[in-house]
Amino acid sequence: MRPLIAGNWKMHGSLAEASRLAEELKGGASGADLLVCPPFLHIQAVVSAVQGSAVAVGGQDCHAAAKGAHTGDVSAAMLRDAGATHVILGHSERRADHGETDAGVRAKTEAALAVGLTPIVCVGETEAQRLAGEAERVVETQLSGSLPDGFAEAGGVVAYEPVWAIGTGRTPTEDDIAAIHGAMRRVLVGRFGKAAEGTRLLYGGSVKPGNAAAILALPHVDGALVGGASLVAADFLAIAKAA
Ligand code: PGA
Repeated sequence: MRPLIAGNWKMHGSLAEASRLAEELKGGASGADLLVCPPFLHIQAVVSAVQGSAVAVGGQDCHAAAKGAHTGDVSAAMLRDAGATHVILGHSERRADHGETDAGVRAKTEAALAVGLTPIVCVGETEAQRLAGEAERVVETQLSGSLPDGFAEAGGVVAYEPVWAIGTGRTPTEDDIAAIHGAMRRVLVGRFGKAAEGTRLLYGGSVKPGNAAAILALPHVDGALVGGASLVAADFLAIAKAA
């Protein structure tokens, strides 16, 4: 499967910095698909900056409703209209900062699919859940609650992001990543059938140039969702090269 290396820029950078970073990524994709997910306000500028290149652009969230009285929110159709092709949904920072639930993430995922955006649905356990031996169960519960019917058939992407590995410089062991990714594949194939054999399963949480090759070589790891290291073009491209 062709890997997907996705950058989650979170709430970082100015408009000028976003455009510059996007420019630096152009022409960098080779063996992997590249995607960057800037803040909403920077999407259009980044879409212009990467025009004519293989770099895709996504949002970091969208509302579940198609339109309406939802102050401060952005719809999936608006992302599409701005030139985005993907959207990250259910990131643990949204689940924590905005109380997003599996059912809410599922509704957003349906909204994304309805307008032809590729959703990247994030799941992952907290440190306490990992220490209690519940990581696999938590991830399976989040998957079954967050993914709508038709998800695999529509090309949806899943990202396993252990909450305690995000922005901390810590990662699970390779065995632990492989175990969760194997479990996710089993759950998805069990629910969606053959289509889920081709579902891209990304790993996210402190992916850096130094650990990317080992993580991306693991079975059922089909790419990475990169936060901090996606803000430096050389680091992001090095991770893509390792894929
Ligand atoms: P990180 O973030 O690479 O900075 O750990 C990953 C993410 O939150 O998507």
